Amino acid sequence: MIIRRNTRQIRLGDLLIGGGAPISVQSMTNTDTADAEKTAEQIHRLEAAGCEIIRVAVPDLDAARALRQIREAITIPLIADIHFDWRLAVAAMEHGTQGIRINPGNLGGAEKLNNVVDAAKHHQVPIRVGVNSGSIEKDLLERYGYPTADNPRSLIESAVRNVRLVEKYGYQEMKVSIKSADVLTTICGYRALSKMLDYPLHLGVTEAGGLIGGTVKSSVALGILLSEGIGDTFRISLTRDPVEEIRVAYELLRSLKIRERGPELISCPTCGRTGIDLFALAQEVEEYIQTMKSPLKVAVMGCVVNGPGEAREADIGVAGGRGKGIIFKKGEIVNRVPEEQLLSVFMEELKKMESERLQADKQEKSNQSV
Ligand code: SF4
Repeated sequence: MIIRRNTRQIRLGDLLIGGGAPISVQSMTNTDTADAEKTAEQIHRLEAAGCEIIRVAVPDLDAARALRQIREAITIPLIADIHFDWRLAVAAMEHGTQGIRINPGNLGGAEKLNNVVDAAKHHQVPIRVGVNSGSIEKDLLERYGYPTADNPRSLIESAVRNVRLVEKYGYQEMKVSIKSADVLTTICGYRALSKMLDYPLHLGVTEAGGLIGGTVKSSVALGILLSEGIGDTFRISLTRDPVEEIRVAYELLRSLKIRERGPELISCPTCGRTGIDLFALAQEVEEYIQTMKSPLKVAVMGCVVNGPGEAREADIGVAGGRGKGIIFKKGEIVNRVPEEQLLSVFMEELKKMESERLQADKQEKSNQSV
């Protein structure tokens, strides 16, 4: 069982972060933020996939001015990501952003940070103090060296120093991140930081890579931290369509039994017993279940010899046989169909099962409210 670390709680729009709130999943758009329509369109796809917080880059005033239109078009909290220019942070808040992410170390000094904190207080906008390995203050690098797994001190001290500065200016609505591209530095850094600060932590491995490399790196680092109860919100960074980040994020949460969203696919790796074109079938089923909401376990197995038995935990499954396919529920075979009809018959069964589940959930909710 995972025991979450206790933190303060902050509010981002209507979403609570830390202090026992569910761990939230976030992503970042890769559109030109100044193009509000295109950005909102991408956010809609992310919302549909389950994204709960969205961050957009604000590199100039045009991007800051587009934030109001973007916010009005979406339903999840909007965070403006600002580097270097404190005036953009203030402009972003004036144009309706619900959160800002800054790296205080690159804003150009304490006075400029103070201006940002004053605006955050005025607009009641929480701040993410986001420190990156690549932009640690010079004096800390000289004192502690570049952060590594053995010595992440400069990264941690930078975060703590900037948190204390924001506190000094009278503000505590913060969450904190320390990003590194290195898995072990990320793990060691967050472990140490979680003992020093009681603010909610945003987790992530920066510049993690493409779908496979990025998923593995992020899952190892974040999986270990989340399993230790560290982390209140996180992003899986991938050099891909950001919707993929959300899918990976929920698979990670599901694998740790922290949160579930939509069905889980159980599929066998195939072997010499495989009787059908399983890869094509699994791909079709995987694509379809992305659109489903119920947390069903769906199995796609290569043979009838071991398939249903191996996938006994599945609510519903399909297994290939020679020239035919078998549909099973909870490990018991319930139907046999010719291979060419297998996908369509299975999809029908799947839709039927989901609609029964949704109906049952609705009934349960209405019983509870009586
Ligand atoms: S389910 Fe059948 S085909 Fe798939 S790996 Fe197991 S034995 Fe092989």
